[in-house]
Amino acid sequence: MSSSDSPEPLIWNGGWGRRPVSGTGISSTLSGTPQIRNSPAYAFHPLKLTLWLMTRIALVVLDTLRKDAFDQHFSWLPGRRFEQAWSTAKWTMPAHASLFTGTYASEAGANANSEGLDRPEPVLAELLSRAEYTPRAFSANLMVSPVFGFDRGFDSFEGTWRVNVNSKGITGWRELFQNSHSGAKKYATIAKGMTAGWYRILPSIKTGLAQRLTDRYVRTLFEQPHRDDGAAPLLRSLQQNRYADADFLFVNLMEAHAPYDPPESYRTTEDASYDEVAATLTDDEPDGRLVRGAYNDSVRYLADQYERIFAELQRRFDYVITLSDHGELFGEHGSWRHLHGVYPELTRIPIVISGEGLSGACSKTVSLLDVHRTILDLLNVEAVSRGQNLLGTIDDRFYLVEYEGLRAARLEKMRDRYPDELVRSYDRPLNGLAGPNEYYGYQTLEGWEERGSSTAENPPLLLRELAASITRRDEDRQSSVPVSEDVRARLEDLGYA
Ligand SMILES: [Zn+2]
Repeated sequence: MSSSDSPEPLIWNGGWGRRPVSGTGISSTLSGTPQIRNSPAYAFHPLKLTLWLMTRIALVVLDTLRKDAFDQHFSWLPGRRFEQAWSTAKWTMPAHASLFTGTYASEAGANANSEGLDRPEPVLAELLSRAEYTPRAFSANLMVSPVFGFDRGFDSFEGTWRVNVNSKGITGWRELFQNSHSGAKKYATIAKGMTAGWYRILPSIKTGLAQRLTDRYVRTLFEQPHRDDGAAPLLRSLQQNRYADADFLFVNLMEAHAPYDPPESYRTTEDASYDEVAATLTDDEPDGRLVRGAYNDSVRYLADQYERIFAELQRRFDYVITLSDHGELFGEHGSWRHLHGVYPELTRIPIVISGEGLSGACSKTVSLLDVHRTILDLLNVEAVSRGQNLLGTIDDRFYLVEYEGLRAARLEKMRDRYPDELVRSYDRPLNGLAGPNEYYGYQTLEGWEERGSSTAENPPLLLRELAASITRRDEDRQSSVPVSEDVRARLEDLGYA
């Protein structure tokens, strides 16, 4: 995509590297003085200000994108590729908890046993915000939304239909709505507030007001021809220059997540919906080729959309970090989607860091939690992290992959339909161990399995020791975030309950 496709002037162009020295574009777009932070030496040298603008990073999670699907459809993506990268978990919430905390999810206390990001220590966006960065977020996944505290530290947190539910963010908005002016003035005030970006979750307005608002700009934000999983509205937002002042932009796109629902022109199969619990627990399995075909269609659509999104991100950010939070199963190991376990097809992920001078493939074993440390180092922010800088010298390490059991809501539903003992077996915690020399060992319902040869003498023992060394904060399964019926319905739709 060329820069002429963008409806508004961009702040920066020319791809990677130094931004234009001229301050005009910057000051007009940021509506005020150029924002220079973390660079005290330059605080009183206006001519040098633009040379020392802060490093800007976009972090993009392509939810549920398997490593093999990524390799097949994202060969166009430039940057340094991490070929042996592993998630810390098999599903969204704990993986994102690791991304935002640089710890294992059981340490962060954000997984099926303890839902929500409510740890006392600051999370990534809070650290960046304290360091005077402007972090913003766009998420298509309800699991990574204000409902579960994932908006902590962000200056704004936007979402699509999946996030557009009765969340905490909307509560604040409703209070404002109730306490503001009456009648037409009320709507005018709120519409004005929306365009000025006062509200944290823009799409939340859709729930209560979209039909009544007459502001054309507001309307166009919500006019989506079909259900969308994030890519199209994100692209539109970027083309409208909505994240012009973001030094850090977090994105989650859901195109590769079930239900696989790409536009008509991408569909090569008929409807591939099925019950992943029945498929996993019984022999009532769907046609694997059909399901994989539908997934591939969605991934092709995602890849095409992301190519356009990436072109926009590349112009605005010094680094674009693209990764997946986990994979997906199509009957391997007798399991479907990402219901349970730490199978390698579920936990191996792509990570690519794009930026000036970055290319080639790294075959060292790394983890999703390393992204946390990498971002902190690139932005020169001091904080504790388990991770290592992916752009530095990478040490040989062993990493843990955790499966803590099923979500309480899921468990409850399964108990209604299946024998207790069977359900319990799928709820049993399982761990994996990723290590040097492309090694991956993992616990399964049947016992220990491994790929590659380990440099450790006794990998199962090392795994147990590593797991035992973790200070857990996730022991109490009762501490789940209470959610509304709307949220529960959306979670069910996503297969989380
Ligand atoms: Zn996910």
